[in-house]
This record gives sequence, C-alpha cells and structure tokens, in this order.
Amino acid sequence: MRENVRMPAVHPAAYLTADIGATSMRAAVVATDGRLLARRQVPTEAARGIEDATGRLATLLAAVRWEGGVPVVATGISTAGPVDPSDGTYRHPPNLPGWHGHSMAADLSIALGTPVYVGHDATLAALAETRYGAARGARDLVYLTVSTGIGAGIIAGGRMVTGASGGAGEAGHLIVAPDVRSWCGAGCPGCLEGVASGAALAGEARQRSAEGARTALGPDADAVEVFRAAEQGDALAGELVEACIQHLAAGIAGLLAVFDPEALILGGGVMDGLAGRWDDLLATVQRHALPRYAESGVPVQRTVLGDDASLLGAAALAAQSSQGDATGTLDP
Ligand SMILES: [Zn+2]
Repeated sequence: MRENVRMPAVHPAAYLTADIGATSMRAAVVATDGRLLARRQVPTEAARGIEDATGRLATLLAAVRWEGGVPVVATGISTAGPVDPSDGTYRHPPNLPGWHGHSMAADLSIALGTPVYVGHDATLAALAETRYGAARGARDLVYLTVSTGIGAGIIAGGRMVTGASGGAGEAGHLIVAPDVRSWCGAGCPGCLEGVASGAALAGEARQRSAEGARTALGPDADAVEVFRAAEQGDALAGELVEACIQHLAAGIAGLLAVFDPEALILGGGVMDGLAGRWDDLLATVQRHALPRYAESGVPVQRTVLGDDASLLGAAALAAQSSQGDATGTLDP
C-alpha cells in the first residue's frame, strides 16, 4: 500500500526571478524543476527613472517571495538591454530611457538579502531553452526572437556568449537585403530587423499603402493585421509576408552556418503570425543552408516555453551563478 502514498511536493531550493521589459516588470518564484510557484507584474514606467523602478521591483519581488512560501537562495534578473552581465549596468538601452550607466543589482541585493545576478533577456531565453525547453541539454544553441525587434541569445560550448561589453547577440542587425527599404532604428541598410521584424512589416505596409498600393490594410496597420490580411488573400499583405519569410530564412541560414548549433529556437510575436507558414519557412531555410544540412535537415524549432522563457532563464542564471560559476557554464 505504501507505493500509493503520494508524497507532498518538496522544493529544497527555489529562485527569485524578474523580467524587466519596456512595458512591464514581472516577478516570479521558480522551483528548481522550472515550475513557477508565484508570479506578479507591474508596469515598468521606465521614464520615472531606474531608482523608482528598483524600489517598485523590490516590493514586487518581496510579495512573490512571500506568496511562493519556500526559501529562495538567489535572485536572477532578465532584462531588456544592452546590459553588462558582470554588474547589471545598462549601456544605452533604447527602451529604458535614462537608465544608461546605472544598475539595480546592488540595491536589490541589499533589499532582498540574496545575491542578485543580471542577464540580457534573449541570452537568458537561450539558457532557458537548454534547461527547460525542447532542446534540453544542448550545449550549442541559438535562440532568435522575432518580434517588434529581432535579437538572439547564444549558448556556445555550454557558455553564454555575451561579448566584451554585454552587446553580443544583435542578430537583428545582420545585413540580409541591403537594397531593400529598411525600418531599422539603428539605420543599417537591409538588416534582418529592418526588413523582417514586426516593426518592418507594419512600416512597410503603411508606406506602401500611402504610396497607393491596393490593399485592405488601413493606415495604422500593425504586423498582426498584416498576417491576418495575408491569410484573407490581400495581395500586398501576402507579398510582405512572403518577403518576411525569405529574409528570415536568409538570416537563420547564416546563423546556422556561423554557430553550428544543436538547435536554433524561434520565438516572438512574428513567429506566432507565421505559424501557418512554418513549413514554407523551414523549406526556405533548408534551401539557403549549407550542404551539411542536406541529410539531417536544419535543426530549427519553435519555442515551447512561451512568455515564461526569460523568467526560467533568470532562474537558470541564478542557479548556476550561485553555485559558484558566474560565467555561464552549464556544468554542475
Ligand atoms: Zn539594423
């Protein structure tokens, strides 16, 4: 009869985590098996300054910690960047205006009484994929988020690739179509973000509509409406989605060639919009990819972690950093 007795869930340790984005700050307690035990969120309101945001985030973290009801051993913070992972100092973050040169890490550590580790959101999403995602255990993995903007997180040889100043992974600025009108805020010609992001789809739809293209898309169309119109047979929207697939495939094939990853994981809102075109995207990547993928097929997958990827990545960062190695190795 003993085998029928269900043991209560035991969480020997858990991690306090946060995800700081342009619009919201989320906090959660994450158990070592990746389950979220408590979660809350508040608006970021970045314009009120980093000091104000630090105070509100500390309050939010304290609240989820109490709700989680288990001891936490360390805190991991995933944030929009660029950010220096060694001390959490922001480096001209475009979506967190005024935060340049400042870090939350020391103040949060004092407020919470735990060590605090900071990482870039795309890098930590990649880390989460190696721990909790479809490519669990992978030591070489690229995570590409295709959303309003485009960015990558890179794990190579089991280590997070963060660059000399925390700026690695800006795969959105790979030049894939220099002759195509670009909507990149950084001004590069025909970069992946400039021609295949959600912002690029929306910008191009509005511009072409203003230039007199025949379309059902209104002057304020966003990327979601472009995908919807394409499914309903709108010629302009169809053309834009087709170009998006071609450009994305070029960028993905380039990343495969450079990093030879076990898996390249795709996430972000544009990937949701392209869900019905997944086979076309995969076939186009395969056509552009090196001959080494002819037999195996390209190792490209959609994320299964959804919105929680960066919180799980923050937990993975806290776990491995508090075990004595802050450089990102996945070895225990
Ligand atoms: Zn660019």
